[in-house]
Amino acid sequence: MSLEKFKLDGKTALVTGGSRGIGKSIALQLAAAGANVLLTYARSAEAAEEVVRQIQDTGRKALAVQADAVNYSEAEKVVAAAQEAFNGLDILVNNAGITRDTLIMRMTEQQWDEVIETNLKSVFNYSKAVIRPMMKARSGSIINISSVVGIAGNAGQTNYAASKAGIIGFSKSLAKEVASRNIRVNVIAPGYISTEMTGKLDENVLKSIEAQIPLKRAGDPEEVADAVVFLASGAASYLTGAVLNVDGGMAM
Ligand code: NDP
Repeated sequence: MSLEKFKLDGKTALVTGGSRGIGKSIALQLAAAGANVLLTYARSAEAAEEVVRQIQDTGRKALAVQADAVNYSEAEKVVAAAQEAFNGLDILVNNAGITRDTLIMRMTEQQWDEVIETNLKSVFNYSKAVIRPMMKARSGSIINISSVVGIAGNAGQTNYAASKAGIIGFSKSLAKEVASRNIRVNVIAPGYISTEMTGKLDENVLKSIEAQIPLKRAGDPEEVADAVVFLASGAASYLTGAVLNVDGGMAM
């Protein structure tokens, strides 16, 4: 028995939305496991460069690219940049996401479109852009970040829940399409994780959410990142089309 299969030495990973929150932790943990990492961001150039510096300090290669995840042609350019910089692409983590929460009575068409495009179309964009090179290499691991809300629903988040449930259907379908080429596609459904996204919530709302979590606390971004490293590694070589709940028991 060996723990070598948990390591990602020599692998290349692309993480969308790696400048802050869960994506930042994912980028750092993948690098800690041995991977070179390209991370994208929408606006936070300084924060993204800081993640790059932290990774480079560990001896791994890293690159940050500003790219709107909604835009397919930008996704193609980012994938080409990762392949050129690191000589291949083994791991894709579709993490970029936003919320525009409100009840359906008040939800605008724009709020619906923004969330579906940023959270769901982006997953199509990057998956499509990586699939040809991964098929050629006959190897790859795609990890899509959904949410407990995509499984259980949540009032005030019809747009977000639809995007996150869509990611699950997309991932299972793609997993079936590419399994014969040794490409694995899996989903992580985080519960309530402390980041800027959840930091917008009122303190009383937070307390009531925590009370409903079986483990009685919010999750840490690193706890999601650990699950990503596992799914990306050879230790998960027989997992595809799976949805891994990292939620303190919320979805039970
Ligand atoms: P944050 O708001 O903290 O970070 C979002 C990240 O996505 C940032 O890096 C941001 O870049 C990037 N991003 C947003 N829009 C775009 C875009 N159009 N193009 C490229 N990058 C973009 O969110 P979290 O870390 O909390 O969430 C990360 C993922 O995890 C999301 O998909 C979210 O839905 C999911 N999730 C989060 C949970 C939580 O409790 N926090 C629970 C379940 C799922 P920039 O810094 O430039 O804005």
